[in-house]
Amino acid sequence: MNRIIIDNAAVATVDGAGTEHASGHVVIEDGRIAAVGAGSAPAPHDDVPTRRVDGEGCLATPGLVNTHHHLYQWATRGMACDQTLFEWLVALYPVWAHLDAETLGAAVRGGLGWLALTGCTTSADHHYVFPRGMRDELLDAEIAAVRDIGVRFHLARGSMDRGQSHGGLPPDHLVENLDEILTSTQDAIARYHDPSFASMLRVAVAPCSPFSVSTELLRDAAVLARDNGVRLHTHLCESLDEDRFCAETHGCSPVDYMDSLGWLGDDVWFAHAVHLRPEDVKRLGATGTGVAHCPSSNARLGTGMAPSRSMLDARVPVGLGVDGSASQEASMLADELRQSLYTARQVGGPHAMSARQALAMGTIGGARVLGREAEIGSLEVGKLADVALWRIDGLGHAGIADPVAALVIGPPAPLALLTVNGRPIVEDGELLTADAAALARESRAAHRRITRRADQ
Ligand code: ZN
Repeated sequence: MNRIIIDNAAVATVDGAGTEHASGHVVIEDGRIAAVGAGSAPAPHDDVPTRRVDGEGCLATPGLVNTHHHLYQWATRGMACDQTLFEWLVALYPVWAHLDAETLGAAVRGGLGWLALTGCTTSADHHYVFPRGMRDELLDAEIAAVRDIGVRFHLARGSMDRGQSHGGLPPDHLVENLDEILTSTQDAIARYHDPSFASMLRVAVAPCSPFSVSTELLRDAAVLARDNGVRLHTHLCESLDEDRFCAETHGCSPVDYMDSLGWLGDDVWFAHAVHLRPEDVKRLGATGTGVAHCPSSNARLGTGMAPSRSMLDARVPVGLGVDGSASQEASMLADELRQSLYTARQVGGPHAMSARQALAMGTIGGARVLGREAEIGSLEVGKLADVALWRIDGLGHAGIADPVAALVIGPPAPLALLTVNGRPIVEDGELLTADAAALARESRAAHRRITRRADQ
């Protein structure tokens, strides 16, 4: 047994009552939260090895939960910077066709290391690029890299089977066939999915998007996921181009299309959900279908702004996502707190989103979207000890008296400590599980390798 006591910190628990302490404590024992409260932690009367962390000048919150990413894109950042979503995809598919295990491993270590440095303790990753028949070797490389960094992970095994010759957007050489996808996805569940309470790795079934997968794949994926008790994920309603694609190809809206295939439910989460009709919002809420809200990526691609306020009002589970690093180069989850507040207010006016609601989306909201509300997303006794301790006493936050406002609408705060299952991953702004400078070198080499191959 071991123990970490964080004392003298402001605490935002993000529990159901929104409990906060101006000066309080968080006690971590054996990977779980053992105590949270105001004032100093009670002195332990045992000989358990105890580490004390002085939280003076800091805010303790639950670790941030990232509900949508494409970590492989860390190797292809900064390309097609001024294109629409469909133009950007068409420009990048030929580059992604050169992905290999080495490049993916480097991208996952780099992207996930950076996410940890910006407060993320749990991340989903939607991986749908499996070129040249590579499957197990890519997923093995990804999972090995995830274990190197130590962030809690949800692997959304993505897929594409509708190439250009079948009316889809991706080139034919980048898609797999239906049987291969279903077999490989089943294998990934068998090999990696851990449903336990403290699970560090779960698998979801995640065909890529309506314009890159067949109707059969969506239907079979839903059956496969439910047979295995895992979640379903895809992109939906990201752009008006997608809306037009669904109208022309299926004669209905994206949400109607997904509904007809069994894709609404509390085991499903969609990335983006920007272009929703009011009745779509109600249906997502009524069915408990979750949304990964990715405001910076939507802004980068100019696809629009998701109606986050309307979704929350309709009781849609909404979490935050950075989205793939090639459409959101900053890839900082902490920054999405502020972006989500700004974009909600641009859509719905000054009262559309509070700083605390933004923090809730980035923590307990994300936990709900990933089906882990009982385990993570708030600082409550018995939950897993995924804790972020943000330093808000530097120049960037000077004079902002409200600690939650400092975190959400101030600049991204450095981390004094970040724990996953009680294990320190980041301390004093430094990644403990890997050498950030080495990750940067590896990331640059991965970018050079994949772009050089694409040029040849
Ligand atoms: Zn995405």
